[in-house]
Amino acid sequence: MVYPRFMADSFWNFSEACELVGARYPAIPLGLITVAALLPKSWNVRLVNRNTEELADSDLDWADMVMTGGMLFQQSDSLELIDMCRARGLPVVVGGPDATSSPHRYESANFRVLGEVEDIIGQFIADWEQGVREGMYVAPKFQVDVTKTPVPRFDLLKFEQYLYIGVQFSRGCPFTCEFCDIIELYGRSPRTKSHDQMLAELEALYRLGYRGHVDFVDDNLIGNKKAIKAFLPTLEKWIEQHDYPFEFTTEASLNLADDGELLAMLKRSNFFAVFVGIESPDTETLIAMRKKQNTRRSIPESVHKIYHAGMFVTAGFIVGFDTERGSVAEPMIELIEESAIPIAMVGLLYALPNTQLTRRLAREGRLHVDHDSAPAGKGDQCTAGVNYETKRSRLEILRDYRKILERVYDPDAFCGRLERLAGMLDCSNRRKELPEGDIRRRLSTINMVHELLSRLPEGRERFWKAFTACMSRNPQSVRAIVTLMAFYLHVGPYSRYVMKQIDRQIEDLEQGRFVAPKLLPPVAPERVAVNA
Ligand code: SF4
Repeated sequence: MVYPRFMADSFWNFSEACELVGARYPAIPLGLITVAALLPKSWNVRLVNRNTEELADSDLDWADMVMTGGMLFQQSDSLELIDMCRARGLPVVVGGPDATSSPHRYESANFRVLGEVEDIIGQFIADWEQGVREGMYVAPKFQVDVTKTPVPRFDLLKFEQYLYIGVQFSRGCPFTCEFCDIIELYGRSPRTKSHDQMLAELEALYRLGYRGHVDFVDDNLIGNKKAIKAFLPTLEKWIEQHDYPFEFTTEASLNLADDGELLAMLKRSNFFAVFVGIESPDTETLIAMRKKQNTRRSIPESVHKIYHAGMFVTAGFIVGFDTERGSVAEPMIELIEESAIPIAMVGLLYALPNTQLTRRLAREGRLHVDHDSAPAGKGDQCTAGVNYETKRSRLEILRDYRKILERVYDPDAFCGRLERLAGMLDCSNRRKELPEGDIRRRLSTINMVHELLSRLPEGRERFWKAFTACMSRNPQSVRAIVTLMAFYLHVGPYSRYVMKQIDRQIEDLEQGRFVAPKLLPPVAPERVAVNA
């Protein structure tokens, strides 16, 4: 099993933060190790993650087949890997979200296993055992009963290579955000695993000796509130009985803030951070993108409620929607500042394959021809976004985007948000000591704070001032504050790298050098529906 490399320059790789604690990449290849658990016991599996280690010729010589797959921003490495294997006569099986959304991009693989694999992998295995060496298997949508999904093969991982380990409780989300592919891949009725199943996964990690940060990778952990509320007391009991070996994070929609009981349950179950999609400060834009759950509320107040429950918030923001009237830079900066969100992932809108947005743009004839191929060279939605013809001028969108990055990741602004966060984050009842074996213990010493500060590219004194202010205001917040400072090691320089790329794009537009990509001809609604 080979997990393809993500594009080198990305907001998400947190490479400097990984280096600080001796890890190589933030997240594990949870999909592949879940597939590994579905294979016959007699099949030997070797896992190589190209984000953390080299794929050696000897690995390929050893294998009878290669299984691979990933997301859009792994596409170019996946295709390279497929070519490499085929040149050696080694059969390749590809699956995962990008192959499912854009199967035509992966025609060079011997096998395409598309959709959720649990119910179709058996047919693939039977065919393989019969000597079949080409084929395509497509899972019926949203049918998999996740209560039957086996415990992922965590034993295949080298834990020390990762910042955190992922587990999954649910698939699917009830909301309808126009740009989102989750609801197309996993549906709008969240399916959840059983309590015993989740405990078996945590037990497996515990027995393998893992201690530390565990991320519930669910795209919206509270998509089925009833189910998560039923599970959390079980989790709370387990974690207490095992003397708090793990601390959790997850992703959730902002309506989490409306449920005080749920917030308290998450706090008691040792959740310390949550990623929330905020997207835009503009109500009209939120309505148009069908993110109504973020409207009719004060977003800063909602974020602060989550802080009062002991979890810091990282959040996603997007620039480039059709309904943006004039500049969105100032309102977005204001929102990030008022909410006191230190790590705000601000990206350009990217029309992902297999979304309502992409189908609409296709109908309107506004999609770039290569919209579903991973952007050439390096980058993610920060540098390669806006893969469609915009309504507002492209130049204005890019100028707005640059301004937001410049202001939000100015060291002084970042430190100010840290200080305000420390004033709100309720870390009472949180274990002060991390368990033995948790790589983050290295971050909790004063030496590490000095090490971190010495690596900060600029504003060192400002960061030290912020650290001491946070400590005097809320000593229990130390771990969260140091963690966020460690993330700045990556996002600070990365935002400046993105600004340079955007400057080039702005200059090209201003100088008339920008060549607009060709557009796909408008697609008739029936055709879009068939593709969907
Ligand atoms: S809330 Fe998140 S996961 Fe759910 S539809 Fe919106 S973007 Fe997708």
